[in-house]
Amino acid sequence: MRYLLSVVLGAIIGSFLNVVIHRLPREGLRIWDPPYSFCPQCHHRLSWKDNIPILSYLILKGRCRYCGTRIPIRYFLVEVFNVVLYLLAAFFAYDWILLILSWGIISSLLAIAFMDLETWHIHDSLIVSLLVFSFLLSLKMGNLLWGSVSALVGFLIFFILYKFRKGMGFGDVLMVGAAGFYMNIFWLDISLLVAAVSGLLYSLFKYKGLKPKEAIPFGPFLSMGFLLSLFMILRGGESP
Ligand SMILES: [Zn+2]
Repeated sequence: MRYLLSVVLGAIIGSFLNVVIHRLPREGLRIWDPPYSFCPQCHHRLSWKDNIPILSYLILKGRCRYCGTRIPIRYFLVEVFNVVLYLLAAFFAYDWILLILSWGIISSLLAIAFMDLETWHIHDSLIVSLLVFSFLLSLKMGNLLWGSVSALVGFLIFFILYKFRKGMGFGDVLMVGAAGFYMNIFWLDISLLVAAVSGLLYSLFKYKGLKPKEAIPFGPFLSMGFLLSLFMILRGGESP
């Protein structure tokens, strides 16, 4: 049952995340307004057939049915990642509340990662969403004391980095503070290590050499680290 729900709900919410990622940073578009989906290129309104998560992308071979414009692969990836991560959480979480809160964290982190990748900006409402689910998960696991300590420590470390190092956005600072609640110092360290190493590898790969001046959006790498910790914490069962 929980696996079936992971797939169905994961796909639907993944599809919703794509709307959020596209619309939140754009002037004149709200999440519920217009209430239907349209092609950003030809503005043709999409029918239900064009809107089935994951499947429509495959059936249409990644192109708009009406004008043939390429649909960004991001639409497909966000939906697939959301489903796969929901399934993983369903595998590790030992009860429903834990599972639902983990799903909230997963979707917040995915939206942050892909929005940061596209726009170099993390929208405040995604931080709030991450904070709410992270705080509730901490409460549920009886981890509020250590969670608050790691949130504070993470926030301070990143605030100092933000002050003294160019290229770090304040969104990253808030993100670490928000995600810190569901961790302890150990998992915070692991998350930041994963983020730093994967960010460095990405930067080496992208710029073909070490150019520390080149900035990269750090949100996707933080998300990766935080997701890894989330699954490790869920796997461990009780509080981290
Ligand atoms: Zn079109």
